[in-house]
Amino acid sequence: MAIIVKKFGGSSVSTIPKLKNIAKQILIEKNSKNNILIVLSAMGDTTDKLVVMSNKASKSPNPKDYDMLLSTGEQISVSLLSMILNDLGIEATSLTGWQAGIRTDSANMAARISNIDTKRIKLEFSKSRIVVVAGFQGIDSQKNITTLGRGGSDTTAVALAAALKAKECQIFTDVDGVYTTDPRICSKARKLEVLTYEEMLEMSGLGSKVLQLRSVEFASKYNVPLRVLHAHQEGSGTLIKKEEKKMEGALISGIAFTKDEAEVMIKGVKDEPGVAAKILGPIGEANIEIDMIVQNVGSNGLADFTFTVSRNTLKKALQVIDKKKKIMMYESVSSKSNIVKVSLVGVGMRSHAGIASKMFKCLAKNKVNIRMISTSEIKISVVIDQKNLEIAVQALHNEFKLEKK
Ligand code: ASP
Ligand code: MG
Repeated sequence: MAIIVKKFGGSSVSTIPKLKNIAKQILIEKNSKNNILIVLSAMGDTTDKLVVMSNKASKSPNPKDYDMLLSTGEQISVSLLSMILNDLGIEATSLTGWQAGIRTDSANMAARISNIDTKRIKLEFSKSRIVVVAGFQGIDSQKNITTLGRGGSDTTAVALAAALKAKECQIFTDVDGVYTTDPRICSKARKLEVLTYEEMLEMSGLGSKVLQLRSVEFASKYNVPLRVLHAHQEGSGTLIKKEEKKMEGALISGIAFTKDEAEVMIKGVKDEPGVAAKILGPIGEANIEIDMIVQNVGSNGLADFTFTVSRNTLKKALQVIDKKKKIMMYESVSSKSNIVKVSLVGVGMRSHAGIASKMFKCLAKNKVNIRMISTSEIKISVVIDQKNLEIAVQALHNEFKLEKK
């Protein structure tokens, strides 16, 4: 029998009526003869509340206790759903992460799954039961409870789907799929039927926060078909899978953007080997992630160096640059925080030339100034002023004909 994994996120299980609604859907699907494994997040903002509680209890909670506390949220939702399913006459069992055989390393609060012993789940399946597993948690080799990092239930679901060789891993959430861009910015945004793992990584990495990034990487590594669906509305959602020849048709799949960017300009650094390392080294050591980097061609032995960081790390970056002035040896520093990054994403770029120039022409026509550009095989990103975000996204959406069909 085929196995289907279904994961429901916090907002989809936030109340008992919502859990009852999910149970009713399962009742209908029970006849499809698939073995069903359900992974749940904690109800609503339960995990946030647990975090607040731990902060009130202790200034620096012991990571083991912290994970013990945070893991309780998912135990509430899985036990309740199992009760409701059993009441409907559907045999179900709720399992914690460790009961389900999810073994992790010992990195509390950000543990990685090392392997999964599927014996117990298979035993439950052999008794025709539906298995409801607590997401976001596992157990380390010392039998300590661990959690997988915020949003980790997606990863639990994908890892279980991979271990069980499931036919599909369905992620139910409060949106009905992945869109060509954010419908709040562009009313013509359209739901995508299919997307490749790579495109999804670019879309979610760039700000379309539908799925935890790690879960997409996991799905890609083990080739688990992922489907994003609305928890309480009918529809086929968006299927995320391996790239196939057929998919070349779509030139651009979507437009992603991130609003929380900032730019740092370091002027008048020496134009000689080792300068980039001298500047970026200390910033990396301070755990500040750098995204785009531009260094212009030097003149008179001096060059300018510009890069972007996430807005909430700008202050820290400037402090590091100030502190290391003697090592970096620059003339001046300035920064700008009201910038955004807009990216065109699509595997079709691999086989089509001229997309970048079409993008730049479109932005020029709309009087959007480009501050920085970066490209990869399936993505072109530009940094622009924040005030131009909407016009740029809408214009590009039109230009590349991504509108509703
Ligand atoms: N409940 C956890 C969180 O809120 C895990 C999850 O929802 O995926 O981060
Ligand atoms: Mg949650």
